[in-house]
Amino acid sequence: MADGAVPRFWREIPQRYSLIGNQCGKCKKIYFPPRESCPECRRRSIGHMNGKKLSGLGKIITYTIIYEAPENFEAYVPYPMAIIELVEGPRITAQIVDCPLE
Ligand SMILES: [Zn+2]
Repeated sequence: MADGAVPRFWREIPQRYSLIGNQCGKCKKIYFPPRESCPECRRRSIGHMNGKKLSGLGKIITYTIIYEAPENFEAYVPYPMAIIELVEGPRITAQIVDCPLE
């Protein structure tokens, strides 16, 4: 199977777990998940996107408590999901763990 035939979602899983994004070598903007090119710099960024490990530190912008979970997540309800702005700039959606609901 050609690399490009693997669905993007699956190819990105190791990057998602290890929070590896990338940075435009032209404008220095950081992306997560990593992008093929920078939407600001477009063609000028091609070949200048460099891998960047993100710290995992950030602040919660907003959150919600999930009571009606999608399939395979029923055992975890209720659980909080949040939009987190990483210190490097990108925003991610993630489950909040090791934290009392209240
Ligand atoms: Zn750029």
